[in-house]
Amino acid sequence: MIGTIFDLKEFAIHDGPGVRLTVFLKGCPLRCPWCHNPEGLSRIPQLMWKKEKCTGCGDCQQPCDDPVCKKLHRCWHHCPSGALSLRGESWEVTDLADKLRGYAPMLGGMDGGFTLSGGEPLFQPEFSLELLRLLKPAHLCMETSGFANEEIFGKALNLLDYIIMDVKIADPALHKKIIGVDNAPILNNVRTVLASQKPHTFRVPLIPGITDTKDNLTAISNLVGDSKVELLEYNPMAPAKYKMLSMDYPLGEVQKKQDFDRVSLFANATIMRM
Ligand code: SF4
Ligand code: SF4
Repeated sequence: MIGTIFDLKEFAIHDGPGVRLTVFLKGCPLRCPWCHNPEGLSRIPQLMWKKEKCTGCGDCQQPCDDPVCKKLHRCWHHCPSGALSLRGESWEVTDLADKLRGYAPMLGGMDGGFTLSGGEPLFQPEFSLELLRLLKPAHLCMETSGFANEEIFGKALNLLDYIIMDVKIADPALHKKIIGVDNAPILNNVRTVLASQKPHTFRVPLIPGITDTKDNLTAISNLVGDSKVELLEYNPMAPAKYKMLSMDYPLGEVQKKQDFDRVSLFANATIMRM
């Protein structure tokens, strides 16, 4: 079974308990205009170009037999300065699990384990579920938007030791307008997490003028109760990555952040950098 990933991050300390190795799966059905992982949106491999490293040598225009380079009409293997890199690599799930298992004793010794992130890991449901099964008995966590059908989400939850789930916009019409999908499955899966008693954290991005309003944060607070919540400050560095991928940054200028105490709206929240 083949899946597509765009990064493996070693020694991650913000992706679940302890020290972790995070697998970033490529592809997401949501379109949050503030997304700071634009290379995770499409399932298709993409080239990332760092202008400041490019010497203009033209070597990337050389013919290359690699099927990905052929498709992209540019060869990243030939770049001598590291200006060009590929985001999106296909892996057979058993090969990836074999590679990752080598890290398990070390991660276990640091009270950590493996985290699946993205993109949206449940956008490649069979691959993610199989990877989780193969990585057991390591400590397993997932960072998810929660946008998945009930059955897939339930199967993932059963395999996980910890779940980190975004809750972005409570109002259905606003969610659809801004993010492009219905939030009913997400709200349903939030309730599933709450009922499961599975250790969890909900994450709420604080996007000025969009998610950062008193109405939205109050509604989310009412939904998640006394669960642990991380309020993620808007990341102003996000637009730079879009340029490297030749993509437009959809959010544009952000408004000033709200001036009320956002943490106090929740029973158990802290503010973090995104
Ligand atoms: S090979 Fe690398 S350094 Fe040379 S032009 Fe292409 S991107 Fe720039
Ligand atoms: S759910 Fe996450 S990966 Fe998907 S668009 Fe939103 S922020 Fe980006």
